[in-house]
Amino acid sequence: KDKVPPNFIKDIIEHDLSTGKHKTVITRFPPEPNGYLHIGHAKSIVLNFGLAEEFGGRCHLRFDDTNPTKEEEEFVESIKEDVRWLGYDWGEHLYFASDYFERLYEYAVELIKRGKAYVCDLSPEEIRQYRGTLTEPGKESPYRNRSVEENLDLFERMRKGEFKEGERVLRAKIDMASGNINMRDPVLYRILHVPHHRTGDKWCIYPTYDFAHCLSDSIEGITHSICTLEFEDHRPLYDWILDELEVPCHPQQIEFARLNLSYTVMSKRKLKELVEKGFVDGWDDPRMPTISGLRRRGIPPSAIREFCKRIGVAKRDSVVDIALLEHCIREELNKTAPRVMGVLRPLKVVIENYPDGKTEELECINNPEDPDQGTRLVPFSKVIYIEETDFMEDPPKKFYRLAPGREVRLRYAYFIKCVDVIKDSSGKVVELRCIYDPETKGGNAPDGRKVKATLHWVSQAHAVDAEVRLYDRLFKDPNPDRGKGGPHFTEFLNPESLVVLKGCKLEPGLANAKVGERYQFERQGYFCLDSKDSRQDQLVFNRIVTLKDTWEK
Ligand code: ATP
Ligand code: MG
Ligand code: MG
Repeated sequence: KDKVPPNFIKDIIEHDLSTGKHKTVITRFPPEPNGYLHIGHAKSIVLNFGLAEEFGGRCHLRFDDTNPTKEEEEFVESIKEDVRWLGYDWGEHLYFASDYFERLYEYAVELIKRGKAYVCDLSPEEIRQYRGTLTEPGKESPYRNRSVEENLDLFERMRKGEFKEGERVLRAKIDMASGNINMRDPVLYRILHVPHHRTGDKWCIYPTYDFAHCLSDSIEGITHSICTLEFEDHRPLYDWILDELEVPCHPQQIEFARLNLSYTVMSKRKLKELVEKGFVDGWDDPRMPTISGLRRRGIPPSAIREFCKRIGVAKRDSVVDIALLEHCIREELNKTAPRVMGVLRPLKVVIENYPDGKTEELECINNPEDPDQGTRLVPFSKVIYIEETDFMEDPPKKFYRLAPGREVRLRYAYFIKCVDVIKDSSGKVVELRCIYDPETKGGNAPDGRKVKATLHWVSQAHAVDAEVRLYDRLFKDPNPDRGKGGPHFTEFLNPESLVVLKGCKLEPGLANAKVGERYQFERQGYFCLDSKDSRQDQLVFNRIVTLKDTWEK
């Protein structure tokens, strides 16, 4: 795998290794198992696993499962599958923050003993009011000066389940006048009478993210705890907890800008809404920015890794043009995907002067970008299909493809000329009559005459039928997520994000296509079998991406 391009986090790690601050690098990727991973997570995965790999360290996969109300086992499995598919391996280093509940509880007891935490009886609403605002200092809780003994007793009784949800919390005792609101006696534990997906009914108090995260990092010996910018204001709390507890391992939290993509919504909550309201066919709908959606769409993991490297790592939020992702996909598939011919909207062509019953096997190049992919034989016969859009009865000036009286080249085959047009009773063109020139086999005329277009085709007698799903961007607006006050993001859904074509005609070799293989249908784009809906006798192909690149460097 390629190296991580230079960035400020890599600089910090290189510096820490060269000064001997650390002998090795230990990072972690800490998803909350409350949904499926998306391409934003991929940025974090490529960074955390990529840096660890490059410097010979390791990256832990840690489930940050401290909130029992939203988490499910289903998500744990999908997250593991997605990280593996992206090409990364956590080895033995699979962890769950919930495995640390006992140790975290002991740390909380220690903080109480050190006079740095207290049990507070204010209601959640009162805590909010007492917290103050950016311009106004907070007010101290009347419970702030309870004795250590009373706090220890109450905290133990919280654990035993003697109190109702919201009745009491454990708070850090820091500074209600701090300019950083996160430092105004933040909540460390709350009561939740909710079973946990791994610890069952064992606990009814759960640590907050801020308390659990720094200590989980410390317990695991993480050297660099890389997270997104919204945690920058939490860093003083991260450091405060570790300092007050005087833990032996104090990781460095480093923040970077999260990935935002144009024409996309990224937060799990919004993706969930798309699934639940039926705007898409599940979390793995090929239009979703989820890793499972991208996989089903046919996007190679190497293209996602390359994209994550190209976008770099910065300290300032920005929106990345989705055209760059599409560009990385095309670049990869152009090198690797074998070319085939598939007619998506078939128009029947009878070549009148071609012998009845004859079949020729024509040699076709599998990939002009890669001679090692060799050639294949594709059958040609008297009746073929071409693309409906490659013919016009009354063509405008710039249309160079087939028209009455005009000659074009059939890819790898012959020149044909249209001599007659057959229509049904409604006037729709249903068949073309053509003649071919046997002298033009392979695509050139001995007399040197030129044609202006080369069309793909499929022999009718040999074609395999397929359904083809043409996917496009899910949103028609570059910025569907306008935030508060703006239109709801679903207002910007692209009604043409999925076009289903039935009765497509593909060259016969595609009958043996397998899930995970990707093809270029010449002149159409890149396609793959749909892993969910395709059957041996009813093939379904997804369009991964079209051929036209809109990325401008
Ligand atoms: P969301 O807001 O989409 O629900 P999250 O941050 O709550 O995402 P987590 O499961 O907590 O999701 O994320 C796991 C890791 O992935 C975190 O370290 C988080 O910072 C990182 N991450 C999440 N979204 C992005 C993103 N868009 N770009 C980069 N990293 C991200
Ligand atoms: Mg999170
Ligand atoms: Mg979240």
